[in-house]
Amino acid sequence: QAKQQGRNTYQWFTRAITEKFGERVSMRNDLQEAIDTQAFQLYYQPLVDRDGELVAVEALLRWEHPRRGFVSPAVFIPLAESTGQIMPISRWVLERACRDMLALEQKGLGRVKVAVNLSPLQFHRPSFLATLRQTLQETGLPAEQLELELTEGILMDNTELAIDILHALRGMRVDVSIDDFGTGFSSLSYLRQLPISTVKIDRSFVRDVTRNPQDAAIVQGIISMAGHLGLRVVAEGIETREQRQQLADYGCDTFQGYLLARPMPLEDLALFLASPQPA
Ligand code: C2E
Ligand code: MG
Ligand code: MG
Ligand code: MG
Repeated sequence: QAKQQGRNTYQWFTRAITEKFGERVSMRNDLQEAIDTQAFQLYYQPLVDRDGELVAVEALLRWEHPRRGFVSPAVFIPLAESTGQIMPISRWVLERACRDMLALEQKGLGRVKVAVNLSPLQFHRPSFLATLRQTLQETGLPAEQLELELTEGILMDNTELAIDILHALRGMRVDVSIDDFGTGFSSLSYLRQLPISTVKIDRSFVRDVTRNPQDAAIVQGIISMAGHLGLRVVAEGIETREQRQQLADYGCDTFQGYLLARPMPLEDLALFLASPQPA
């Protein structure tokens, strides 16, 4: 009986693993097809200051699968990272973002700064800086209009090299922000030695900031530390007025979240920029 049960469990496991594996393989193939046919889209989410003025937009990748519908980047990016497919995808994202910002300018909508998320693999490739320079050159986007978002993890991996790259980026006049700040393990004082311009407080702290005193304390700590270091602070995931008010009271200068605007395709961003923005 026990043996039979063990066998069933084993069979169940095998099937689950096979299915999971099959799922992975099929997702990987679908991803490849999306790369080959350029089936991705880039959405943009505004970042605004205390007065509601646009500071920048963040480029967020979207993949509409023919059968599955929209697949979250939180799902397919890690997969693409593990298969190496993130490289052609990242290249496409960077180029698209640069060209889209130039298109906005050509429509008379001003010079919008765009923040692009970097993957660890992309950042650690020896060709990273060269590819970046080339993309800026080929598209013609001024480096000042580009910002790169890195996670703490990327910087912890190979600190010496990472710091060299950050200095090179500063030399190129490309700004860098630390994304999802507070979720990694870097100490606040560690930031002092990094040539970065912005920290983005992770959504998980913003979510309960009005209810949870511990989250509130962390957020206050990050904002005051960033202030002393001369860094801009962005609070991501702002969904309510109460959250924005509390963060503003703590001294946060930039806000991003559904309360302000959702990520949107370029055409909608153009409309957003053209319409008067409420304070
Ligand atoms: P992230 O860089 O931290 O991006 C912010 C995420 O929060 C986005 O999710 C955005 O849609 C979502 N968000 C913004 N405001 C709110 C809000 O008020 N409430 C809630 N609940 N969510 C909000 P998204 O677009 O699903 O992207 C997830 C993650 O995937 C990103 O997190 C980023 O790490 C990664 N990602 C997205 N696009 C790219 C890309 O082009 N390249 C790379 N390497 N990673 C990307
Ligand atoms: Mg980001
Ligand atoms: Mg973020
Ligand atoms: Mg986040």
